[in-house]
Amino acid sequence: MRIYSLFETGRPVFSLEVFPPKKTVSLARVKQTLRELAVLRPDYVSVTYGAAGTAAGLTCELAACLKQELGIEPLAHLTCINSSREQLDGVLARMREVGVENILALRGDRSPDVAPQKDFLHANELMRYIQSRYDFSLAGACYPEGHPDSPTVEADLQALLYKQQAGAKHLVTQLFFDTDGYFRFVDRARAAGITLPIQPGVMPIVKLGQIQRTVALSAASLPAAFSKMIARYEQDPDGLYKAGIQYAVSQCLALLAGGAPGIHIYTMNNPDVAKRVYEGIRDALGREEN
Ligand code: FAD
Repeated sequence: MRIYSLFETGRPVFSLEVFPPKKTVSLARVKQTLRELAVLRPDYVSVTYGAAGTAAGLTCELAACLKQELGIEPLAHLTCINSSREQLDGVLARMREVGVENILALRGDRSPDVAPQKDFLHANELMRYIQSRYDFSLAGACYPEGHPDSPTVEADLQALLYKQQAGAKHLVTQLFFDTDGYFRFVDRARAAGITLPIQPGVMPIVKLGQIQRTVALSAASLPAAFSKMIARYEQDPDGLYKAGIQYAVSQCLALLAGGAPGIHIYTMNNPDVAKRVYEGIRDALGREEN
């Protein structure tokens, strides 16, 4: 199934992100996580790709489990900055073998310790290559608060336009906590000529340790309501768990009410968190009880 066709139905698309384990021995545990997430009947599940491409096999294994065992459409992530064309051809062949039809094509983060490969410098170049050689449907990443490398918002929107021109069929956002910022971004993207569905990605923050890591990685700004919640529950892990889920539910409800075409939950491989958020937004997604 081509994931972009889900957006053509007009029904909100509900999807989840999982990441592969660092080591093969933990694969069984993540597969069990997938089985628990499957109960939520996501429209698709995206599987991330290790920064240096070293765990590409694990991304493929989880995609295969989703597709073949659970009957859920996988969206396999693929990054290009640290891989040669030959290496990527190997991964793409494996993805095709296990039945992947949809790829989230990314540049990947530049690592200070690894010299970048030269075959593909940006996501749109990877997309163009995949389009010319393979029959995958493509998605791309976008950044409501701008990508940290971008000198200006306009330059970032221009890069997004390149992704659309290179064949991306839908976009998934970086996580954010400022819901209004998503709508401002969508308005700017439309004005710049981007017509693709822009699916917001929401990460429930349920532990203090997640905040510093997440904010450092995503550069997401923290609205006052979010900072107040953190300050209030700093010493109360159970309270923060519940409040973090409630914040994510409120974000999702506001996004859906404002016309977002769906919700993508960054699950951090935590089925309990995903389930609680899902229960809070099930009606707004127009779904019946399981
Ligand atoms: P690009 O589109 O190449 O953009 C990177 C920068 O270059 C931006 O500043 C952009 O404005 C600029 N740019 C883009 N194209 C051009 C061009 N043609 N000419 C000049 N400038 C250009 N990382 C992982 O390692 N694994 C994952 O699984 C993963 N999944 C992700 C999923 C989502 C939804 C998101 C939002 C991010 C994900 N990332 C992942 C992180 C991502 O790899 C980084 O954010 C990376 O720094 C940029 O990737 P990109 O595909 O957006 O790059």
